[in-house]
Amino acid sequence: MGLPRTTTHCPYCALQCGISLTVDRGGVSVSPENFPTNRGGLCVKGWTAAELIGHPERLRKPLVRAIAGDRHSPLREAGWDEALDRTVAAISAGQERYGRNSVGCFGGGGLTNEKAYLLGKFARVGLRTASIDYNGRFCMSSAATAMNAAFGVDRGLPFPLADVERTGALLLVGSNLADTMPPAMRYLDELRRRGGQLVVVDPRGSATAKGATLHLRPVPGTDLALANGLLYLALRAGYVDEAYVKARTRGFGEVRAGVAAYWPDRVERITGVPVAELERTVEILGSAPDAMILTARGAEQHREGSDTAQAFINLALALGLPGRPYSGYGSITGQGNGQGGREHGQKADQLPGYRRIDDPAAREHVAGVWGIDPEELPGPGPSAYEMLSALGTGTGVRTLLVFASNVVVSAPGRDHVLERIRSLDFLAVSDIFLSETAQEADVVFPAAQWAEEEGTMTNLEGRVIRRRRALAPPGEVRDDLQIITDLADRLGRGEYFSADPRAVFEELGRASAGGAADYSGIRYDRIEAEKGVFWPCKEGEPGTQRLFTDRFATPDGRARFVRVDHRGAAEQPTEDYPYVLTTGRLMRQYQSGTQTRRVPALAAEPNAEMHPDLARRHGIEPGDRVELRTRRGRAVFPVELTDGIRPDTVFVPFHWGGESSANALTDPALDPRSRMPAFKACAVAIGGVIRP
Ligand code: SF4
Repeated sequence: MGLPRTTTHCPYCALQCGISLTVDRGGVSVSPENFPTNRGGLCVKGWTAAELIGHPERLRKPLVRAIAGDRHSPLREAGWDEALDRTVAAISAGQERYGRNSVGCFGGGGLTNEKAYLLGKFARVGLRTASIDYNGRFCMSSAATAMNAAFGVDRGLPFPLADVERTGALLLVGSNLADTMPPAMRYLDELRRRGGQLVVVDPRGSATAKGATLHLRPVPGTDLALANGLLYLALRAGYVDEAYVKARTRGFGEVRAGVAAYWPDRVERITGVPVAELERTVEILGSAPDAMILTARGAEQHREGSDTAQAFINLALALGLPGRPYSGYGSITGQGNGQGGREHGQKADQLPGYRRIDDPAAREHVAGVWGIDPEELPGPGPSAYEMLSALGTGTGVRTLLVFASNVVVSAPGRDHVLERIRSLDFLAVSDIFLSETAQEADVVFPAAQWAEEEGTMTNLEGRVIRRRRALAPPGEVRDDLQIITDLADRLGRGEYFSADPRAVFEELGRASAGGAADYSGIRYDRIEAEKGVFWPCKEGEPGTQRLFTDRFATPDGRARFVRVDHRGAAEQPTEDYPYVLTTGRLMRQYQSGTQTRRVPALAAEPNAEMHPDLARRHGIEPGDRVELRTRRGRAVFPVELTDGIRPDTVFVPFHWGGESSANALTDPALDPRSRMPAFKACAVAIGGVIRP
């Protein structure tokens, strides 16, 4: 008989590849599972994920400052009672002195659904504060805003991933799947094998772009103009599906009038994409029997990110794609639980079930499930960057609890955020490693990680899946559900909280019932029997693989066109900052790198990619390091020369803190609709060149 195997999912990205874990005295080993998303494939991060479990840098005991209240004193190990008591004392003193909203929570898109739900509930019921948001604000918020406006609901992919390989034409905007989700490339390979065409929009010659039928290379921050220009050409070429537009949508007249200003020569001037390539793209999309448009962070992390996603949705609606087989619009979620993380109430403006916190009916329903008076529920709070940038100020949060998020590396304008964090009265961080943010904390809670806990995640398709426990956490490590419940107990609100994941999930189901993301029919045993269940899933009903087949989730069932216009990146190149900086991920690293930078097999360099022509202009040679400067700060990167990137653009990965921190450079200008910062385009100068 072999060793017992635990089937679960990779801890990293939203593809949530199926894996099995085998535990023996030699450690934990990973094998791929034939799960519907990864079909037996894994990337190097998944293969090496078990290295996180017994890692020597793992936090095994709570940490507190040697001198309470003195953040210059060193962190020392402590018992749970001391760590929790210090935290609750800080919460109570802060709320008494500065009001309830002066205590805030910051969550993460890697938290299980149960944790995201309980953290949202803890903020509203345990702390009774409006101050809660999470790092998904930096990830999916723009696409979510646009999808809600157009479709009445936001599910990243409103169809199963398998539909992608069956489509006739795919327009992939701002996504480098080959590096971010390598096993998903088999869907693109199969699409091509079936004769489908792939058009990639990316200022870099990424590994994904190299396999495309056509690669459009726009100036970062001009995707909205590109989308409107494609719609202009679709109208001119007669590809608009007038019958679909008439029967299933509203508002096309205004959009049609708006895109009249996006004639091809003008769009070429704005985007840098030749007219012939724009025309060819429209021909590919318009003449295919079915077609799909997928956007990701490259298009969405801008000051006009929501409008950009909206422009691509407008194009998809005009071509009659959403709700049709192997067709539609979707956004590729990044974080492991980026989808579920935004549905259960850790967002500043939401309650569970993807309900708006300012909707009286939603407040009444959720308050009823929680056993409190709706009047007790706080209203909407500040968005992630707004909270971080006001920390320690008169009206801002003064006591912050951070769960599974490394904001010192992942937030834009790093120097300002770090200064604000250092001005807090009290900071508690729950994490598995001593991240850059945890290093600033007064108290650090050592948290259980993926292979040590039970729960659910919701992958990029809206498929709710099970995370299973293969082994017990080490040392005195506790699950975040337990940590939240322990804090609630000490605050005298323990009666409202349970640390049992199954009980939390069932309560989440009740709280979500009737909402857009309805989980009320999903149970742990159903998830196991059905290889995941797609939401919405009402009690006693099957899950919903494909949304919008008959109607959209708007009151009248019709999708909405929304007119949007190009304004350009928040920051344009100038004489002092003559180039465009854009950021992104590497295959071997993940998000803020808290986990992946500690895995030797995932070692990577934080290289700045630039075109050889640009390098020559500045006397830069292979092997050099360069200083990059923006209006926010400076950072130093090794140089990688590639002729795939636009000569006016510099790309840097965002997985590092310290001297190679991409977010020391990025622009925190916020999208007025989603409050997404403008990570993907700002003006940059090349400073000094450092020779080895
Ligand atoms: Fe893990 Fe994502 Fe890699 Fe799959 S693609 S193994 S989920 S990091």
